[in-house]
Amino acid sequence: MNWDDFESWGKRLSTWGADYHRTKSDRPVRAQVEPGEMLAQLPESPPEDGQDMTAIMEDFERIVMPGLTHWQHPRFFAYFNSNAAPASVLAEYLASIIAPQCMLWQTSPAATEMETRMMDWLRQSLDLPSEFQGVIQDTASSATLAAVLTMREKALDWTGNSHGLSGQKRLRIYCSPEVHTSIDRAIWIAGIGQENLVRIPIAGDWRGMDPDALRAAIAADRAAGHLPAGLILSVGATGTGATDPIEACMDVAEAEGLYTHVDAAWAGSAMICPEFRHYWTGTHRANSIVFNPHKWLGVQFDCSAHFLRDPSTLVKTLAIQPEYLKTHGKDGIINYSEWSIALGRRFRALKIWFVLRTYGLEGLRTRLRDHIAWSRDLHDRLAAHPDFEIVTPPMWSLFTFRYAPHGGVPAGTGDALNQRLVDAINDDGRIYLTQTRVDGALVIRFQAGQFETTEEDVRMAYDVITEIAGALL
Ligand SMILES: *Cc1c(COP(=O)(O)O)cnc(C)c1O
Repeated sequence: MNWDDFESWGKRLSTWGADYHRTKSDRPVRAQVEPGEMLAQLPESPPEDGQDMTAIMEDFERIVMPGLTHWQHPRFFAYFNSNAAPASVLAEYLASIIAPQCMLWQTSPAATEMETRMMDWLRQSLDLPSEFQGVIQDTASSATLAAVLTMREKALDWTGNSHGLSGQKRLRIYCSPEVHTSIDRAIWIAGIGQENLVRIPIAGDWRGMDPDALRAAIAADRAAGHLPAGLILSVGATGTGATDPIEACMDVAEAEGLYTHVDAAWAGSAMICPEFRHYWTGTHRANSIVFNPHKWLGVQFDCSAHFLRDPSTLVKTLAIQPEYLKTHGKDGIINYSEWSIALGRRFRALKIWFVLRTYGLEGLRTRLRDHIAWSRDLHDRLAAHPDFEIVTPPMWSLFTFRYAPHGGVPAGTGDALNQRLVDAINDDGRIYLTQTRVDGALVIRFQAGQFETTEEDVRMAYDVITEIAGALL
């Protein structure tokens, strides 16, 4: 394939892409395939000779497309959306055409400096104080791992990397039971151990951790000779949108000298709207904050914004400088690979630039406010329906509910009934939902957040849910 072929295929793919997006809402949201179907259609061995692009594209349409779940479908109400606004797709296309590797300032000065500016644009958009500096990580999981490693190193006076953890005091990290599993994995990978991730009980409608219980747990750990190292707070956790009382928890963390990390992977985007910022009052006191523009802001995966009040602690934890990575004679430059786990880095700042300029903050705010209002409308309609009960109240555009038919179901069968409802809805294909557990019970999650979702799409969710539920019994 040469660049002339690339030119003609590039044009064809632009047309294909626009057609796909114009007609995607006619497709079932979740892939309607069985495990192994894709694998059975792929040759077991690679071709010895090159093949024609026409044949490759035909196979793509025939084999791959039916096996995809459509994340950009306007009735994708499962998990959290991973938006890819058209402006972001174009930026990714440019980044993949030029394909720079942006590990050091000198390997891509423009990418580095744009990253600095874009992270500051995002900081201002969320109204975080100017002392925060940012870095783009691939995912929130990586940002959280970087923060946990920093907690570890700071608590061990920067001896963990050199000496390892054996013979050290037990490090203790605190969080609520609602946190995302990326927190557990960061604790494992950092060598701290699951047993030392202390779950503080939650209280109240926001399902946030109880600050008094946090204080008591830290005191008990100190009395036992352990080393409290860090606090991980959630704003909009994945299951139900659980949100910790940040200000009260920060009081405890500061008094105890703990390094603090706020996981706002999903809900952080909503902080571009001033009316939602009361949910995370006190976050400006955290050491580290992560949110994913690749969820609700339309900047396509992967793009995770990681803010640090003092990046030098992170850099002290992660930076390593063999001679071949040094940039001599350029003072004041940033090598962002020293702020993250991986050395290699893609040019992710470009898509933030394209998206913020194309939609403007007002354009983005309008979308988020619409999603939240439409989701609340669905919440109100389900709450008024005799056969449904709301389990957790709306947190931004997320709430959970349960099918509890009037007259009741045999004791102990409610979970199975609700799982059958989720499965039947997803087999139907018009909308896509997922389940979670709240206090042990299986519940159905709803959240709206796709860039092109309309009020009509959310209203259709009500029709689909009630129609399929009615047919189940
Ligand atoms: C999505 C999510 C994550 C994980 O995000 P990745 O970027 O996929 O690692 C972590 N925490 C919360 C609250 C999330 O919603």
